[in-house]
Amino acid sequence: MLTIQYRDWIRDVPDFPKPGILFRDITPLLGNGSVYQQAIAELAERVRAWGADVIAGPEARGYVVGAPLAATLGLGFVPVRKPGKLPYTTVSVTYDLEYGQDRLEIHSDAIQKGQRVVVADDLLATGGTMSATIELVRKLGGEVVGAAFFIELKALEGRSRLGDIPIHTLVQYE
Ligand code: IMP
Repeated sequence: MLTIQYRDWIRDVPDFPKPGILFRDITPLLGNGSVYQQAIAELAERVRAWGADVIAGPEARGYVVGAPLAATLGLGFVPVRKPGKLPYTTVSVTYDLEYGQDRLEIHSDAIQKGQRVVVADDLLATGGTMSATIELVRKLGGEVVGAAFFIELKALEGRSRLGDIPIHTLVQYE
């Protein structure tokens, strides 16, 4: 594999979505076929080592990481969605945001008891989104065996909210 500096394919956008936030934009990475392919291939090696049965990811950018990972490894993909989007029976969790609360849902039959589940998203910040995703998987009886991300914002200490789950990230920002 060629050595790709993934950081060169992530664009910094100041003051998005609000003043004072530096947004890490992965669309340049997604827009280059060989960079995207290699990013997924690298994460897939780690997910394979974790022995996953299925991958779950939160909308929307969790899908652009989790779904190709699942397809690469011949695993199923489970979408975790904002309220009211999934058509069948759901299980939900409410989680805290900086201001207010949000909710995520999963289909009640999406994961079988005892299945080994890897959770995936584009970016780990405070860990709120991923800890809610993990809670949903556990509510269905899944065992979370790893978490995979393109990017980790270390200063926000999201890792500490995921407990002792193994985590793999391609790019870390201090
Ligand atoms: P957390 O819940 O605070 O860990 O935030 C992570 C979630 O917010 C992920 O689903 C990301 O897609 C999104 N997010 C937060 N900050 C950024 C960013 O700078 N770039 C891209 N997505 C972000």
